[in-house]
Amino acid sequence: MNQIPNSLHASDIAHSIHPYTNARAHEAQGPLIITRGDGVRVYDSEGKEYIEGLAGLWSVAVGFSEPRLRDAAIAQLDALPYYHSFAHKANEPAIRLAEKLAEITPEGLNRAFFTNSGSEANDTVIKMVWFLNNALGRPQKKKFLARTKGYHGITIASGSLTGLPANHKDFDLPAIPVTHLTCPHFWKFGAEGETEAEFTARLLEELEQTILAEGPETIAAFIGEPCMGAGGVITPPEGYWPGVAAICAKHDILLVSDEVINGFGRLGTPFGCQKYGFTPDIMVTSKQLTSSYMPLAAIMVNDKVYDAIADHTARLGTFGHGYTASGHPVACAVGLENLKIIEERDLMGNAARLEPAFQAGLRAFADHPLVGEVRGTGLIGGLELADKATKQPIGKSGALAARVARAAQEAGLICRNVYDTVALCPPLIVTEEDIAQIFARLGAALDQVA
Ligand code: PLP
Repeated sequence: MNQIPNSLHASDIAHSIHPYTNARAHEAQGPLIITRGDGVRVYDSEGKEYIEGLAGLWSVAVGFSEPRLRDAAIAQLDALPYYHSFAHKANEPAIRLAEKLAEITPEGLNRAFFTNSGSEANDTVIKMVWFLNNALGRPQKKKFLARTKGYHGITIASGSLTGLPANHKDFDLPAIPVTHLTCPHFWKFGAEGETEAEFTARLLEELEQTILAEGPETIAAFIGEPCMGAGGVITPPEGYWPGVAAICAKHDILLVSDEVINGFGRLGTPFGCQKYGFTPDIMVTSKQLTSSYMPLAAIMVNDKVYDAIADHTARLGTFGHGYTASGHPVACAVGLENLKIIEERDLMGNAARLEPAFQAGLRAFADHPLVGEVRGTGLIGGLELADKATKQPIGKSGALAARVARAAQEAGLICRNVYDTVALCPPLIVTEEDIAQIFARLGAALDQVA
């Protein structure tokens, strides 16, 4: 197919550079071109149907054919297609969306700053935190704590927060001050004979000792995803997050909850921090905020963060940061309508209601010979393919998960292989019948590869 001159496939091979893709392999195999969406399903250029088991990139809450989002975008394009938010300018959808986010996010997160992507949002968080600590007269308090396997984006600064090898290898990211702590994955990193409670205690001790060794006066913030996504769907051990929150509070370290995947019902609670019992100072959201119909991210901050920044802008005369499309009216209008749909159709409730069926379906693969660990919560889950006894990858790391994802695609299920884990994160509109089909197709793929 990719040999046909002037075909879309040939053109893609000739002219595109794809993110997260082996370019030479792509030249040989060509793209999967998705041309149409319908609910939780998408269709390729040959008309083949797939269940989108990862909601695009963990992001399309309302499915791939929601007319109300199209209508919201068109109405806003008609009324005012673009305006910016610099220097006291504003537009109605951005105002309304900030107000809505302040209403639905946890207590205290009262203000929103908009960016276009999660990576830009986390870059902005770093700059806000640095700005704030300069404002408070503690210029040495600048370091970030993050975790190995955490994912916070790929720009130079957010990529430095990310703790995954592919995002660092050969990119020469300048060393912004980040310390990566142990990934809170009990199955993988628990020591021989250690209980889950002991593992939690060890990680909290590591956190406290790191802070004391580096000096609390040098550590500005701790950032983490409540449930890690791109690192392999890693749910934290019992007690981990309240413990992290308490240690951060004790040492005056800001707690940043990166909810780019977790936010808006993914874990069966409105926000991931609510699932695990902590309240952040800063929360980062994106993806399901607009169901990714438009690029948009929102950083929510509490009054303590806002007031320190606001006072400093008064001294300096400005907050010298912002994007041309910060608070883009079309993206914000789509976000508002998307949140309205999530509310009206109780899609967060749907995630909570379907959690037992989804998690049981996943756990049915626990005894499969290729599966080392099954994990997940709400409507997100992953199968780590590994030797059950050694917990090590079977064969070359990542290769088996890639084969299973390819076989799943042939069987009509799009999922994502992240390192050794096959990840699922269906749209929040998914039904019990869809879930049954997802697992039937995934099972066929696993059996084919086994
Ligand atoms: N933070 C988390 C938790 C993410 O999962 C992602 C993307 O997957 C990002 C940040 C970066 O978002 P973006 O790809 O929009 O830059």
